[in-house]
Amino acid sequence: AKQRGKAAYVRFVSGMAQPVTAHMRLGGELRRALENREFEVFYQPIMDLGTNKLVGTEALVRWNHPERGLVSPGEFVPAAERTGLIMELGRYVLREACRQTAAWLAEFGPDAPRHVAVNVSARQLHDPGFVGDVRDALGDTGLTPDHLVLELTESAVLRGNQVSRALHDLDGAGVRLALDDFGTGESSLSLLRAFPAAIVKLDKSFVDGLEFDEVDPARRDARQAVARAVIQLAGALGLEAVAEGIENEAQAEQLRALGYVYGQGYHLAMPMSAGKMTDLLTEQRRA
Ligand code: C2E
Ligand code: CA
Ligand code: CA
Ligand code: CA
Repeated sequence: AKQRGKAAYVRFVSGMAQPVTAHMRLGGELRRALENREFEVFYQPIMDLGTNKLVGTEALVRWNHPERGLVSPGEFVPAAERTGLIMELGRYVLREACRQTAAWLAEFGPDAPRHVAVNVSARQLHDPGFVGDVRDALGDTGLTPDHLVLELTESAVLRGNQVSRALHDLDGAGVRLALDDFGTGESSLSLLRAFPAAIVKLDKSFVDGLEFDEVDPARRDARQAVARAVIQLAGALGLEAVAEGIENEAQAEQLRALGYVYGQGYHLAMPMSAGKMTDLLTEQRRA
């Protein structure tokens, strides 16, 4: 997703006179979009692979661009990170995800998603006010910390040392931390010792081609080995493992066989607006 995002951003700015100008233009556009409330939080269900029940959601930001329609985060999150606008955007997503999840819990009780997972950029994590922002978002929306998961990438956690303090503060407050895109970094294993993670998310790149593939069995076997190592490690350390990017039943089947309980992907459910999710929860309650 990161790679695709970069490419898409280049596409977006290409055709403009100079990269610097384009960068500034996109920065200005993002600020305007924030003021015009053009950002919307979508939710992708995280499912129990055994029961096919919804257990939680991941909050994924979208940009409702007046001319371009729905723009995916790969096209603007990198720019928001560079310009620093990610701070404000991140606070908005966090607050909105907490508010919406608290509302679902109030309306649907035990049938509501039990948690919402919010993506956190390195830059947010390094801001000294971040832990305070999280506490405020929870306090103001009435969501209790056990319903919030923060998804962090290895690179975000690795850079800087005041981060460790922030992570332990959040963990102490009862917020759960997930290591996102697990297995793609260089120090996944050593990081887990120092990091109070509760969840690891097996990166989509290890789920791709996990199903039976006669064309390239060696690559399939390598992915299977990583997927198996991650679930075993999670078990040994008492962590939950979530497999992301499940696109077909054969992959889900493989993951179940390896011991995965939780999964996320287009095959299970697409990211959707809050309104769509509310419809889904209403249907499920009737069923
Ligand atoms: P991510 O955290 O790895 O999120 C998962 C991405 O995979 C999402 O893309 C999701 O729509 C997509 N996805 C889910 N299931 C499947 C599948 O079965 N197949 C495929 N091909 N893709 C699947 P999305 O929504 O475009 O987000 C891209 C990235 O943008 C995210 O990757 C995350 O790094 C970032 N992002 C999204 N929302 C936020 C946010 O609020 N804050 C920050 N800092 N980053 C965000
Ligand atoms: Ca994520
Ligand atoms: Ca991920
Ligand atoms: Ca990913």
